[in-house]
Amino acid sequence: MDMEKLVSLCKRRGFLFQSSEIYGGLNGFWDYGPLGVELKRNVKEAWWRDMVTAHDDLNVPPGAPQAYQMVGLDCSIIMHPQVWKCSGHYDMFHDFMVDCKESKKRYRHDQIVGRWVEAKGKRAFVTVVPETDNPAAEIEPRALKFFNLRAKQAEELVWQSPVESLTAVSDHEQVLGPDAKALGTLTQPREFNLMFKTIVGAMGTEDDAAFLRPETAQGIFVNFKNVVDSSRVRVPFGIAQMGKSFRNEITPRNFTFRSREFEQMEIEFFCHPKESAEWYRYWRDRRYQWYLGLGLASERLRLREHEAKELAHYSVGTADLEYAFPFLPKGEFGELEGVAHRGDFDLRSHQDGKLIKQGDQFVVETTTDGKPKHKGSGKKLEYRDELTGERYLPHVIEPSAGADRATLAFLCEAYWEDAAHLDEKGRPRTVLRLHPRLAPLKAAVLPLVNKEGMPEIAEKLYLALKKEFNVFYDDGGAIGRRYYRQDEAGTPFCFTIDGQTLQDQTVTIRERDTTKQERLPLDAVAEELRKRLA
Ligand code: ATP
Repeated sequence: MDMEKLVSLCKRRGFLFQSSEIYGGLNGFWDYGPLGVELKRNVKEAWWRDMVTAHDDLNVPPGAPQAYQMVGLDCSIIMHPQVWKCSGHYDMFHDFMVDCKESKKRYRHDQIVGRWVEAKGKRAFVTVVPETDNPAAEIEPRALKFFNLRAKQAEELVWQSPVESLTAVSDHEQVLGPDAKALGTLTQPREFNLMFKTIVGAMGTEDDAAFLRPETAQGIFVNFKNVVDSSRVRVPFGIAQMGKSFRNEITPRNFTFRSREFEQMEIEFFCHPKESAEWYRYWRDRRYQWYLGLGLASERLRLREHEAKELAHYSVGTADLEYAFPFLPKGEFGELEGVAHRGDFDLRSHQDGKLIKQGDQFVVETTTDGKPKHKGSGKKLEYRDELTGERYLPHVIEPSAGADRATLAFLCEAYWEDAAHLDEKGRPRTVLRLHPRLAPLKAAVLPLVNKEGMPEIAEKLYLALKKEFNVFYDDGGAIGRRYYRQDEAGTPFCFTIDGQTLQDQTVTIRERDTTKQERLPLDAVAEELRKRLA
């Protein structure tokens, strides 16, 4: 699939726009248009419904160790700054960046790749930030230009290494930066904290600095006790939250995949430490199935267990759910969701203070005078089991998903050029084969012609359906063109009112993917749509 075509369809049909586009846009920020907002809402609603409101508290779901409860939460985006100090984000949530003194650009250290090459008695490590799955082909023209050679003199370049990451090169003296003309313009890597800083209140001093949340999870941890005390939940149970998160990503790219403002859909599932490994496996598999159920193809969706050395400092096990996004090099996958076993790391940090690993243990990090580096709340966050009287800090399983990445994956998966059906210019029709639950519009109501009583019947049907479904009325243009417009918007069904409707009160239902049409009674339309959307 050609990503550019999807990007252009998203703009043309109002799924996604660059933020503040009339002012030239702002890198890393996106706006959802009229169809996009419906699609993303449907993704979030499917998640909320499947994980929270439709969850059955009474029976054991398939694959789960036992029955459990789920509740929701909606926390503020700006929280007490100590939250981020204890969670570790203040000290450790950073990427490494390098600056280019010549181009004034900033790059993520690990995203630059290059090759050692020699020509005309000079040696250089020529770099790019790859945009294709063949970085070598992107490096060669840069090397030719640097050595002042023409394309037909390419054999004068003596390649001395395969493509490798800049992280493997410690001295930048002989490095040609991705946008530089001279060698040695890249600085050494420096840490860059990804949290957006802001000031709360009118004083405007550094003491009032706060952060936009880089994840929604911490709001759940700091409300753990509130939820236990105010609702009737008992371990094991989960708290779900969705909402905006902000990360000052050094290089936002790949459409909405890496944005600076995005939405997350996170669950913190609290369980007894002895049962946590089983719950981890349950959530990992359940979340994988959720994406499959909504239409991602299994050959492009994978579940990858992290190796021990890859695990975050607190984690006993982590798996990423990854999708083969079309903008990635062939064979590469991008993270859709992380499912992490976090032990009691988070509750303990907010209780006692920021933790660090010492051997196999987590201990409160202290300064030279023995005081906690970042003091916890001091509030007991233990859970007391009413039946056994046992007190403990529950372990946490965290399925953490991105609403924008999921939306993008569903769009990529749905994009289809159907060569069996050509438009009036002889091009394959473009179809978004979205799952009916996700489709922005559920159906379109189309009078075949704008006369002979057809619009009246169509309008009545439209108004009746509108009470329950997001349906669209379209009476403009040839019927074939109207169908193709709906195909591009991902609308699963079209109802057409034609001459026969006037005689026998039936309409056609046209199915998006097959273009198959059937007749059904006008008064059976709502029921049929309900059935097909279920
Ligand atoms: P990555 O390695 O891609 O930066 P991450 O491991 O930092 O992701 P998490 O902290 O696990 O991501 O966040 C959970 C989810 O939030 C991710 O799986 C992704 O879907 C979403 N997410 C994280 N960062 C971004 C971003 N910059 N833009 C869009 N979605 C994001």
